[in-house]
Amino acid sequence: MLYQRRIADNQIISAKLELHLRGSRYAGVGAQLLGIVGLGLAGFYSLDVQVMLGWAAALLLLNLWWSRRVNRILVAGRHFTHRPAVLNELFTHALLSGAVWSGTLIWLDAYLSDLIFYLCICVIVIVSVVTIAVSVVIRQAYLIQLTFSLGVIAMWLAWFAGDRPFNSGFAVLLVGLSVFLVVASDWMSGAFSEMVETSLERAAMSKDLASLTDSLKTRNLQLQDARRQLAEQATIDELTGLRNRRGVNIIINDELARMKRMQLPIAVIALDVDHFKTYNDNYGHPAGDEVLQRLADVMLEMTSRAGEFAARMGGEEFILFYPNVNRSGALDLAEELRMKVLGLKIPHEKSLTAEYVTVSIGVVSCVPEWELEFDDLLKTADDALYLSKTNGRNRVTAGESELSEPS
Ligand code: GH3
Ligand code: MG
Ligand code: MG
Repeated sequence: MLYQRRIADNQIISAKLELHLRGSRYAGVGAQLLGIVGLGLAGFYSLDVQVMLGWAAALLLLNLWWSRRVNRILVAGRHFTHRPAVLNELFTHALLSGAVWSGTLIWLDAYLSDLIFYLCICVIVIVSVVTIAVSVVIRQAYLIQLTFSLGVIAMWLAWFAGDRPFNSGFAVLLVGLSVFLVVASDWMSGAFSEMVETSLERAAMSKDLASLTDSLKTRNLQLQDARRQLAEQATIDELTGLRNRRGVNIIINDELARMKRMQLPIAVIALDVDHFKTYNDNYGHPAGDEVLQRLADVMLEMTSRAGEFAARMGGEEFILFYPNVNRSGALDLAEELRMKVLGLKIPHEKSLTAEYVTVSIGVVSCVPEWELEFDDLLKTADDALYLSKTNGRNRVTAGESELSEPS
């Protein structure tokens, strides 16, 4: 089974008890009224009217009291927590309401003709049959009622079999009917139990389902959050915290399009650490990482205005992007950057260029044409950087290009 869940027994008993009480509150009492009217009419013609009215009033009061009592129990549901007490009350009521009929019949026996007497038995049978339909959820209660009404009457008829012509026949009939009602009550109360259990099971399942849906929603939000973080991380270089190449690709087209529309100059500064392999070999890879981080801090500091950014394009190669910066502005910035790196005075004893870590820089600036691609800019900046390398490193070179020069 895909879903299995046990409902606690006491929960089932509580629910059955409630169902039973709801059934017996009006319908059960209604069945009793039927008997009162039936037997009342029979006795009315044979007995003193006052006695019969007194009997009917007593039974009516008993039933009214029970109906009110059940109402109270149902309204104050807390009584279900004292289930044994309520069950005892139920069983006592079943015994009394069964005994009332056998008692009444035995009492009336002395006053009734044969025909009326057997008619009265039929009325009691009807009461018992109707009762099964409404108060059989708690089966023991029904069986108690049945025993004390039809059971006692059957025994009494058998005991006084000779008193009336059909006593023994009716005794046999009543025993047969009682057996049938016992079997039917078993079947019916089983069906009620199943109904109660199924509805409890369904309520439990829908509660589980609701909490499952809630936790799924939370999981989903967490997943969305994690995905967003992942996407963000994928655009950021882990070592330096600068944008990586993917991060550049994501924003550069918009930025470029904006500058194309406004016809304002843009500048790209490409940077490569000099003799970095030797640095790593000499001071170790972790020390090299630290150098990259310190350089990144400098670049971050120099790209703090809107639209500017620094990015690590791979290894020890970086770029800085500046909107609205012309060629001479870009050269100034590149020179400032070169000096700042030198100013860090990071010792590099194996460098063939200086005693500290240095960088070579290539610069490009232009007012972007419509057809200009960012890769064109990168290529020109790289070419300029290459010239800085070949011309002795630790220097800035402006890109020679066919790109339109800013004024
Ligand atoms: P050049 O002056 O011509 O640029 O020489 P170079 O040694 O800097 O250039 P090369 O391309 O030969 O070597 C680049 C070095 O950068 C090699 C590699 O070990 C190092 N490198 C690349 N990425 C990292 C990194 O994340 N951390 C560290 N510590 N080193 C890195
Ligand atoms: Mg390199
Ligand atoms: Mg290098």
